[in-house]
Amino acid sequence: MKEKSVLEIALQQLEDAAKLIRLDPDIHEILKHPKKAVEVSVPVRMDNGNVKVFKGFRVQHNDARGPCKGGIRYHPDVSFDEVKALAMWMTWKTALMDLPYGGGKGGVACNPKELSFTEKERLTRRYTYMLLDFIGPDKDIPAPDVYTDEQTMAWIMDTYSMFEGFNVPGVVTGKPISIGGIVGRKEATGRGVFYISMEVLKKKGLSPNEITCAIQGFGNVGYTTARLLHETGCKIIAVSDSKGGIYRKDGIDPIMLYRHKSKAGSVMDFPGSKNITNKQLLEMDCDILILAAMEGALTRNNAPNVKAKIVIEGANGPTTPEADDILYTRNIIVIPDILANGGGVTVSYFEWVQNIERIFWSEEEVNSKLQEKMSKCFNEVWKMADELRVNMRKAAYAIAVKRVSDAIISRGLFP
Ligand code: NAD
Repeated sequence: MKEKSVLEIALQQLEDAAKLIRLDPDIHEILKHPKKAVEVSVPVRMDNGNVKVFKGFRVQHNDARGPCKGGIRYHPDVSFDEVKALAMWMTWKTALMDLPYGGGKGGVACNPKELSFTEKERLTRRYTYMLLDFIGPDKDIPAPDVYTDEQTMAWIMDTYSMFEGFNVPGVVTGKPISIGGIVGRKEATGRGVFYISMEVLKKKGLSPNEITCAIQGFGNVGYTTARLLHETGCKIIAVSDSKGGIYRKDGIDPIMLYRHKSKAGSVMDFPGSKNITNKQLLEMDCDILILAAMEGALTRNNAPNVKAKIVIEGANGPTTPEADDILYTRNIIVIPDILANGGGVTVSYFEWVQNIERIFWSEEEVNSKLQEKMSKCFNEVWKMADELRVNMRKAAYAIAVKRVSDAIISRGLFP
């Protein structure tokens, strides 16, 4: 049987939530569709003098609770449907984290590994120019996602500000500190995944130093999560990236691994470890499996072989609904993406507030506000799962969809 596309998955998750909370069918209909979506063709002068045209997208799924918020992804597989699904997930995530935002997402179909620094700059500035009417601090606020970073955000902020005629730091989050970024934003998603891991261990009465972890993805989210888990005493026994993975029974030091990856270009061949495949990593015998790479990591094919007791979704959409059901019947706890990786958008919100109010918080303040938020949301979802006797994902969706529905009902339908 063919696996569902990410958009089909997102729609099914909405449908499940609609049934669970008896969502008004009219609201359900509204929420199935993005409010606005654009496709742009972005011409870029390449370093060799030729012009190449890239497909770019930006989708605003819903803004009933506030301006749309969501990252921009540069990846060869980016498609309009994928961006629509990711935008919808952002609506649920911002509602679940109880932030005054809606959901949006953007992407450009390109291979960033084949683009030079200057080509990436020209691509980003032209893409931003084509979205000038679409984005803005009160409309839609981009942030980094896969293969985009604070430099990308700086170019977007600069391009947008050029056209406004004054500095508009609040148009993006995840900017460099030098132009209004917030301390701790870069690490926020991984730190949030770490706080959530600690909350689950607390519920299960487990201590970090008796825990083994496997981590898929060793980028921004995977590395930070690995480092914080390692610092707190958890043993990281396996890590992978797009090229493959490594295993070390006695544990891997993420900082040493980071240095190795920076030189070698992959986690593979890390001294003292054994190379493994991504399949072996996902089926590793461990306590916690952190998914911090891409969508569709766990499917109906490999979910029956997962040996971890707890799966935490640092990535967006890494578990298909079929895999979710299999893991639930096998008593494996899955902490859903909209909760587990909500730390990034939460600190993005802090950054946006700082930009509007022109105030700055210390890293300790940022981290402690983040921990408080993650803990509160985790406990709300845990309680809801208990009350409704459903998995954590369905509980998280029940809370989030209800919040968005309440906002739409309160505002009423124009005209
Ligand atoms: P990143 O580009 O920094 O890292 C991605 C990592 O995944 C890299 O190590 C890459 O090699 C690896 N990878 C890619 N394909 C893989 C595969 N098939 N198997 C194994 N590893 C693979 O990206 P990131 O910012 O760490 O984002 C990771 C995930 O987290 C994405 O799903 C993203 O949408 C999600 N996310 C990121 C943030 C954020 O703040 N960065 C916030 C919320 C969610």
